Amino acid sequence: MPSAEDGKHLDFIRSIVAEDNRTGKWEGRVETRFPPEPNGYLHIGHAKSIVLNFGVAAENQGCCHLRFDDTNPEKESTEYIEAIKRDVRWFGYDWGEHLYYASDYFDQLFDFAVQLIKAGKAYVCDLSAEETRQYRGTLTEPGRDSPYRQRGAEENLDLFQRMRAGEFENGSRTLRAKIDMAHPNLVMRDPVIYRIKKVPHHRTGDKWCIYPMYDFTHCLSDSIERITHSICTLEFEDNRALYDWVLDQLGVYHPQQIEFARLNLEYTVMSKRILLTLVTEGIVDGWDDPRMPTISGMRRRGFTPESIRTFCEMIGVAKRDSMVDMGKLEWAIRDDLNHRSPRVMAVLEPLKLVIDNYPDGQEEELEAPYYPDDPPKMGYRKVPFAKELYVEREDFMEEPHKKFWRLAPGREVRLRWAYLVTCTGVVKDATGNVLEVHCDYDPATRGGDAPDGRKVKGTIHWVSARHSLPAKVRLYDRLFTVPNPSGTKDGSTFRDHLNLDSLLALEQARVEPSLAQAEPGARYQFERKGYFCVDSKESEPGDLVFNRTVTLRDSWAKMMKKENK
Ligand code: ATP
Ligand code: MG
Repeated sequence: MPSAEDGKHLDFIRSIVAEDNRTGKWEGRVETRFPPEPNGYLHIGHAKSIVLNFGVAAENQGCCHLRFDDTNPEKESTEYIEAIKRDVRWFGYDWGEHLYYASDYFDQLFDFAVQLIKAGKAYVCDLSAEETRQYRGTLTEPGRDSPYRQRGAEENLDLFQRMRAGEFENGSRTLRAKIDMAHPNLVMRDPVIYRIKKVPHHRTGDKWCIYPMYDFTHCLSDSIERITHSICTLEFEDNRALYDWVLDQLGVYHPQQIEFARLNLEYTVMSKRILLTLVTEGIVDGWDDPRMPTISGMRRRGFTPESIRTFCEMIGVAKRDSMVDMGKLEWAIRDDLNHRSPRVMAVLEPLKLVIDNYPDGQEEELEAPYYPDDPPKMGYRKVPFAKELYVEREDFMEEPHKKFWRLAPGREVRLRWAYLVTCTGVVKDATGNVLEVHCDYDPATRGGDAPDGRKVKGTIHWVSARHSLPAKVRLYDRLFTVPNPSGTKDGSTFRDHLNLDSLLALEQARVEPSLAQAEPGARYQFERKGYFCVDSKESEPGDLVFNRTVTLRDSWAKMMKKENK
């Protein structure tokens, strides 16, 4: 964790904060805020902002506010508010008493608007949205003044009050800041700061039918809360001029806006509009579908808050936009799960294995460590062994290729923690599908080692047919088939790049009986198969459902190793 003390590793935002602390610019105060709009669930991009804002505050004994930027009532809801609070808390962050809503400032914002009107800095404009666009000009051409720009303060005040009173239709009038229609920065060409929207609000009900625009609301909310560093993403760089203009015109407390590069992650989308579409069209199973890049989806998938924080620290904070490799996120989650997931055995696609020379009706209990590399950490559980087992279908090949070291006719393999077995034959159905594999075991190899020191190359996992529990297992793949599904240049949309195989539901899996009481959310490594967690929504004792969080293969780490050589 970077801190002000180890000056070397500060990113550019932390450097600014450290410098401000040194010069006493904010009298040593550090107050940041995370300002989501409650129009969807939080995603991994928001996590970057949360970790940054709460992190910077905590490192400097400051505080971070949670502020709902709720100025767009038709898209917002209390469901989203609750989900956002849950997600921020899940990271372990605490906003304490600093929970705010922009809507709590509506009266104050109205008064500020009146103040601007009185100062001749804002006017009521009767242009339609389309006309306003036409008057704005372009990057190369200056805009034209609205015919209503010269209205006097009296008339503007009267019209603004009547807008508030509901006398005018949606879209028929706006309040605009009076800045400069020829300004090189388009944001400064008399931006709209209030619009008429006859829509009830989830918090203020019918009290308002005019709502302040983002640029007006945001800087003033920061000012009212006496934020010191207002950290936002790069798209708002141009808006900083307006942020500063509003606060300067009103002569109020003036935080510093600082922009950083947003997180873009390969093979995923971060647009709330697209995420909402995935949900409403049923392309995924809700905001918390484990394939979604949402915090709630990742939680359900089995990600830990620690691993997401580590990921955010790994990718750092910079000024230039970039695309982050999914492998980095997977590396962070594997690294964390490795030391907090007991190892157990589960067979995802079972094939029956019969040990012909094992006595009928006999069973024994074998000891298997939860952490083979560090047995004392959690000790051992008992795994029942019997004549009929299940092994993974893919661990048997009738005609093995050269590099296949697992089960094949005549081949001896190790059953993890149990015995060495040699394949003696198979039973097939009429169409040639293998129904059963038959083996003989060597009773002298209990625990998995041969007393004569003979070696076997393959070790496979297994469960007892009779003792194991049925389970449903869901394997996930990325939702999209291309690295940048929403930013392709050929005119295609995210719909053209959906991965139709992103979910593989295995209904016939078998897990060892020690998992009978597995709690929702509990995490395990299924040996050789990956990290899994008990689904928090659908799993029940007797009807276990597991989600694969991530596979074991660590392709990104291997790649890094190669690059560093
Ligand atoms: P929209 O405004 O389109 O609804 P948004 O992604 O900007 O979507 P907000 O709720 O406004 O959503 O975001 C809250 C905060 O999270 C903002 O400060 C924003 O800068 C930050 N944020 C959003 N997306 C990312 C991202 N991909 N990377 C980093 N920060 C992000
Ligand atoms: Mg936003």
